[in-house]
Amino acid sequence: EVHIGPLQSDVADVHAGVVLFFRDLTSARRLEAMRADFVANASHELRTPLASLLGFIETLQGPARDDVKARERFLDIMKGQAQRMKRLIDDLLSLSRIEMRAHLSPTQTVDLATIASQMVETVSPLAKERGVVVKATLPDRPVLVLGDRDELLRVAENLIENAVKYGESGGKVDVAVARTEGPVPQVAFSVQDYGPGIAPEHLPRLTERFYRVDVVQSRDKGGTGLGLAIVKHIVNRHRGHLDIASEPGQGARFTVRFSEAGPRP
Ligand code: ADP
Repeated sequence: EVHIGPLQSDVADVHAGVVLFFRDLTSARRLEAMRADFVANASHELRTPLASLLGFIETLQGPARDDVKARERFLDIMKGQAQRMKRLIDDLLSLSRIEMRAHLSPTQTVDLATIASQMVETVSPLAKERGVVVKATLPDRPVLVLGDRDELLRVAENLIENAVKYGESGGKVDVAVARTEGPVPQVAFSVQDYGPGIAPEHLPRLTERFYRVDVVQSRDKGGTGLGLAIVKHIVNRHRGHLDIASEPGQGARFTVRFSEAGPRP
């Protein structure tokens, strides 16, 4: 709480002012350090595939110039690296767009059940590829929230894709939308997988930008390390809550909760 008004000669108040000043300074410094860290991480993430691309280009211009087989293989790898850079830049742009809108409240009336079923369908080719069965449990009636349709689709996409990617291949994923009981009407969207789960020490840091439990595994699966940071930013803008629960070896459950829009039927 910050008191704004004429300065009082009261010693306690003066001290409070001094403490506040220092606290502000440290939080500003922390913010600055976080930003610098983010730029360093993003640059590093982009530099790695770029260095590899340059290496392959030089090889193709030099030693492998007339090697048709090598050229095919190298071009495939180069395409993969370029796609990775594109994914990363797309995610960075999404994150900054969401951040720019952070202070604006979303205004569309969106049915979470439709969002969930659309996204289950969108993710089905990826699920099929990995032999994962995605099952959706949805209410018959619309479950409305005040939101931004594209952003909520993005939340569903990131969570369902993660469950398919990190859950057991050949396993199943349960997606559900439900109203929650209680004095305040709330709605929940949840995604449960039955894969290896996440060790408790990682849980609090999962939504940090570029935080990954296993960097190599995330890269192999086409991850950028920004998916859950994007989810958290969108959920915050919607004044919702994100819960992550996991028992290692038993899978993970990601739940987002929002206030329900409009009167209950
Ligand atoms: P990524 O692009 O690496 O998937 P995310 O921000 O989406 O980035 O997720 C961060 C990390 O959280 C992942 O690298 C992975 O280690 C872990 N993770 C996310 N979802 C799951 C899940 N369903 N099961 C196990 N680990 C997960």
